[in-house]
Amino acid sequence: MYQTPVAIVGGGLAGLTAARRLHDAGLAAMVLEARPTLGGRIDSLVDDHGRCRGDLGPSWIWPPFQPVVQQWLDHLSLAVFDQYESGDAILDGFAPQPVRRPLPGQYGMARVVGGQAQFIRAMSAPLPDAHLLTDTPVEAVETTEDGKLRLWVNGRPTVSAEQVVLAAPLRIIHAHIDLPAALTPQLADTLASTPTWMAAQAKVVVQYDRPFWRSMGLSGRVASRTGPLFEVHDHSFGDDAAALFGFIATPPGQRHEEGLREAIIEQLERCFGPPAAAPVSLTIRDWATDPWICAEADLTGPVEHPRVASNQLRQGHLDDRLWFCSAETATQSPGLIEGALSAGDSTANAILQAREANRLRVG
Ligand SMILES: Cc1cc2nc3c(=O)[nH]c(=O)nc-3n(C[C@H](O)[C@H](O)[C@H](O)COP(=O)(O)OP(=O)(O)OC[C@H]3O[C@@H](n4cnc5c(N)ncnc54)[C@H](O)[C@@H]3O)c2cc1C
Repeated sequence: MYQTPVAIVGGGLAGLTAARRLHDAGLAAMVLEARPTLGGRIDSLVDDHGRCRGDLGPSWIWPPFQPVVQQWLDHLSLAVFDQYESGDAILDGFAPQPVRRPLPGQYGMARVVGGQAQFIRAMSAPLPDAHLLTDTPVEAVETTEDGKLRLWVNGRPTVSAEQVVLAAPLRIIHAHIDLPAALTPQLADTLASTPTWMAAQAKVVVQYDRPFWRSMGLSGRVASRTGPLFEVHDHSFGDDAAALFGFIATPPGQRHEEGLREAIIEQLERCFGPPAAAPVSLTIRDWATDPWICAEADLTGPVEHPRVASNQLRQGHLDDRLWFCSAETATQSPGLIEGALSAGDSTANAILQAREANRLRVG
């Protein structure tokens, strides 16, 4: 069985940020990730030459309004560029034919050079490989007589840790991880009732050989009432990596790939004309089918922007041995990248403070 001061369950941005902060402070943390790759909701599409062609999870950050994002961009030496917004948008389904209209963009909306996965790459780069365990789904956390916490994976006790950070989506924790009985029923209710931002969404990235819409004076943006995409944006990484991305309006469970691909191309042709009918590639990522991200309750719940969740999620439990840390636990931009980074920062700080104050009684 592995022994570690801190075990972090979930290798998304929040868990990795906590691991990085602890590592930088000289405290080893072992990350246990259920899936074969790190990153969680951050997933960039990479071509055969290793170049990023699109973000299948988050696309945007807003550095002027997100101080924690800005700090981490600086610290990790990541570059950003503005979301392309020049030209008219297309309104689709507001009149018999799509119409062009100026539609203001959002000030400060930026993308990461090389895709959002650069956050994951740069954040995890200094962490020892031996501390990053993928394909390691945690099923249970139990207290032991020596005051530590033991994590079960694939039916076996696998890791013994002084402190554990649960950095998986809160509803997934509630549904899939057996927690010590000493935790309160109110905490279980909070976990079950906190939605995971964007968990039931599906995104498509459509690559073209050139950003033809730009030379037509179009921004690449579409607002649609008819779908199947309700929103489309320019998603190019420069002129030689042209792409659009869209959010899919078709509800989870009805996103049958074959018909959906055709309907998406038809819609893009309707909005942008014949060149849109010949994409280089079309990639759909349906997050609703990801069992480590999307819980049953996320499939049916109303889609509302995350609110600041209960304080219970930011406190230590079991005498500061157990902590929760996902984008949804943050007080700053919960649910967003800013939230994931700030949850990782504050959980790591709280752990270090708890150890400093010698409040841990282990052994
Ligand atoms: C389509 C989409 C678009 C988005 N757009 C934006 C955007 O434009 N801007 C923005 O700021 N944010 C956006 N977001 C939100 C952003 O992606 C999240 O805020 C952020 O990535 C969450 O990071 P996290 O580490 O908290 O959680 P996650 O990324 O969900 O990571 C949790 C990790 O826990 C793992 N896990 C789950 N259960 C277990 C288990 N039992 N054992 C071990 N590991 C487990 C999962 O596999 C996952 O890797 C978007 C999200 C999606 C899906």
